[in-house]
Parts: sequence; C-alpha cells; structure tokens
Amino acid sequence: MQAFKELGISDPILKSLEEHGFEKPSEIQEKTIKLVIEGKDVIAGASTGSGKTLAFGSGILQNTKKDYGVQALVLTPTRELADQIADALDNFSKHDPLSISAIYGGVSIIPQIKQLEYADIIVGTPGRILDHIERGTIDLSNIKTLVLDEADRMLDMGFIDDVKTIINNCPKKRQTLLFSATISQDIVLLAQDYMNNPIEVSAESHVDPSKLKQIYYDVDDNLKYSLLKHLLEIEKAKLVMVFCNTRSNVDFVSNNLKFMGIESLPIHGGFSQEKRSRILEQFHSKEVHVLVCTDVAARGLDIKGVSHIYNYDTPNDANEYIHRIGRTARAGKEGKVINVVSSRDYDNFRNVLDIEGVKIEHVETPYVPRVRIRWMPETKGQRYARRHNIGDRGSGSRGGDRRGGYSRGGSSRGGYGGRGSSRDSGRGGSYGGRDSRGSSYGRTGDRRSSGGSRGGSYGNRDNRRSDNKNPVGRNKARRERKSRYD
Ligand code: AMP
Repeated sequence: MQAFKELGISDPILKSLEEHGFEKPSEIQEKTIKLVIEGKDVIAGASTGSGKTLAFGSGILQNTKKDYGVQALVLTPTRELADQIADALDNFSKHDPLSISAIYGGVSIIPQIKQLEYADIIVGTPGRILDHIERGTIDLSNIKTLVLDEADRMLDMGFIDDVKTIINNCPKKRQTLLFSATISQDIVLLAQDYMNNPIEVSAESHVDPSKLKQIYYDVDDNLKYSLLKHLLEIEKAKLVMVFCNTRSNVDFVSNNLKFMGIESLPIHGGFSQEKRSRILEQFHSKEVHVLVCTDVAARGLDIKGVSHIYNYDTPNDANEYIHRIGRTARAGKEGKVINVVSSRDYDNFRNVLDIEGVKIEHVETPYVPRVRIRWMPETKGQRYARRHNIGDRGSGSRGGDRRGGYSRGGSSRGGYGGRGSSRDSGRGGSYGGRDSRGSSYGRTGDRRSSGGSRGGSYGNRDNRRSDNKNPVGRNKARRERKSRYD
C-alpha cells in the first residue's frame, strides 16, 4: 500500500485498493498516477490488462467533487468497456462515493437523461454522448478531465469525427488523457490538436511473455472448423475465447459447436445490448467456458482466467492480434494462443508474423476427420423468401432443411467419401477421409469446386467466404468487412 500512497492516492481510494487485494502499482500506474493527480496531460501507451483504469481513475476520482456537475468524461470504443470502467471506478470510489454513469447506445436514452442530471463522472461511447450533446441533455461545461480510452480502437472504428466534436464541446481549459495500445500517426495528430504539452509514458501489459505460448496450424480451408473443434476437445483449458473476424463466422462457429455438443456463447454487435451483457455475465461466471466473439464485442474486457485464445480468423489488422493475445497469460498465469491458419488468412498472418517480438511456433497439423457442418447462415435467397413470406422454395428454414439435406445427402457424401477413401484407405473411413497433413492449398481449391458441384456437399461449406467469383458473395464479403467492428 505504501507504494500507492507515495504516488499520491487518497486514503478512501487506498482503502478500496486494499480490499481489492492490490499490493503494488502496475508499471503504467507507477508512471501515470502522479502525473494525472497533478493535472498533467498524458499520452499512455498501455493495453488491456495493464491496469490502466486505475492509472487514470485514481486521479479523476480524487479530483472530482460530488454534485458539481460532470467533471470527468471517459470515452471508450465499446459499451461493454464503458460498463467495465464505470464499475471499476465505482469500486475504487466506494469509500467516498460519486455518481458515475455509463452512457452508451443500444439501450433506452430516457433513463440516461435522468442520470445525466446528477452525474459527477461519465463513461460513455462516442455515438450516444454525441446524441446527448445534440439533444442538449448533457452539460460538459464543467469538465476538468477528458479521457480517451483505447483511442486507437476509437479511430479504427471510425469515431474520429464524433470524438473531435465531443472534444470541441468540452472546455478548452481541461486535462486530457489519452490511453492507447498503439500510438499511430493519427493518434499523434489528435494529440497535437487537442492536448497541452502531453507527457508520454508507456508500459507493457500484464501479459507475461514467458508464460505465453503462441502456435499456429496451417490447415486446408475446408478443414478449418474441424481442426478447431478437435483442438477444443483435446486441449485442457479453463476459459477459452475464439476470435472471428465477422458476425456470420461467430454464428457459424458457435452454432456448429453447439450442434456437436460443445457449449459456447456467441457475442457480436448483431445482438441487443441486453443480450450482450447477459452473455458476458455467463462467461465471467464460468457457466460456459467458450466465448466465440468478434474483436469489438470483446474489446478491452477484463476477463480473468482465460487460458486459451483461438484465432479462427487471423485479424485483418496486426495490432488486433496484440489486443487478442492480451487476454491470456495475465497475472502470472499460463496462456496459449492457437492460430488456425488457412489460405484465406495468409495475407493477414504474414503481417502478424512481422510484428516485432511476436514469436509463433509452427505445429504440425494433426489428422482430423472432417466433421459434418450442421448449421449454415441463411442465404440471401432464403432471407428474401422469409421476409417476403414467399415460402421456402425448397430451401427450408434456417439450417433445418439443409441440415436434413446433409444427412440425407448420400450422393454428395458418397462422392466425397469415395474420393477420400481411394486416397486414404485404412484411415478408418472417416468423413471425407482426408488427412490434413498431406494436403496442399492448390488441391483444396480444385477439390472444393468439384465437391461443391455435387449439390452442396460439405466440401465448400466451411470455406464459403472464399467464394469470391460470385458477385453476391463479393457483396456479402464487403458487407461483412463493414460490420466487422462489432
Ligand atoms: P485494466 O487494465 O484497468 O482493465 O486492469 C486489468 C485487471 O488488473 C483488472 O482486473 C484490475 O482489477 C487488475 N489490476 C489493476 N491494477 C492492479 C494492481 N496494481 N494489482 C493487482 N491487480 C490490478
């Protein structure tokens, strides 16, 4: 506690830190807390898990007086992170309570308008804060400290104009704190325009590199899901996060795991806020051990006890890789990152391998039988038919008939099995019977087209995103890329 005291933290906050079992400051706290309390502008290079909430939180809590209007505004990229930070600030200020409100979209604005009348500190996402500014339901004229948390993510998500408008609505004379895992040129420009002689500090995250094992498997596109399922079954894990780049891949992975008896929770921006919060609670409480998520749905969340990170899709942005792996090997615990890499990930994976200091070991892909895909997202035609009540045109309800089709699909199965068995006889007649070890990407492509022409055989189910010859597919891919930040 002495070390926290020496940084200038007040007694009521010290008391709550003691109750939380915090013994000594993390690196970012050591470097930042004093500066924040003194009212300096700070640019902090710190990522998830570094202890950044207390790093900016202790200063803003003790510089805020109850019932003097909103004196601190923390902007975060996601709703979940806003909730998490507001909860942490609530806990830290337990012995000298302040009114701290989390303000974000996806929920009714009416109760927020009431809360804003007596809030001392606001933690919010840019869109909804801007909405309140436009409605005149938020008063930022008493702001003393503005925090831009996960600033790189906010810019990546296209919030730059919203953020600038919000900053322009805060008093010119204020303290500005910018926290970001990566300090890009855009961040530097933002700091130049809106900060006052900022002091730069940086710190490693809590992730202990000696406890973090990073590996990758190089697998055929159409065995990707099968390998994931196999690894989930054989790896001894506590909590597991499976990252996908798109909402539809989250649904695809999670629904198929469910059909195959592996309970998992999907989370992405297509769900209501209420559902997202409920899912995170279930995962936090370890009711279900596997969370299948997009980056932003899980951004910045502090989830303890994550032992395995799976990258089902390699992130498009190499920095995102750093964010993802920061969820494990924290606080002295072991962690493992497993990259399931197939040809559609190659470009992204090359960028990840270029990240300084990142060492990912190649592991020989084990033999995995191809599992039967049981759930597929609705196609455009099916969605149209459903929305216009046209009847199912033989395609059936979501997943249902197609699934039936698979199990009845003797011809396609026979086709695959037949080809597989001639090549892989003696391998136990597994589905498709292919051994991923021996496969080459070129051959996969050929096989896919011949398998696919056999009336929707499994062959092209797991790799549907790479079907870019089809203009509908291309549009879909574009839409998915747009909605990636969920
Ligand atoms: P944050 O990066 O602020 O999300 O913090 C990550 C996790 O580390 C949270 O669970 C904090 O409660 C915890 N934490 C933060 N600072 C400390 C500290 N000095 N000692 C122990 N745990 C800490």
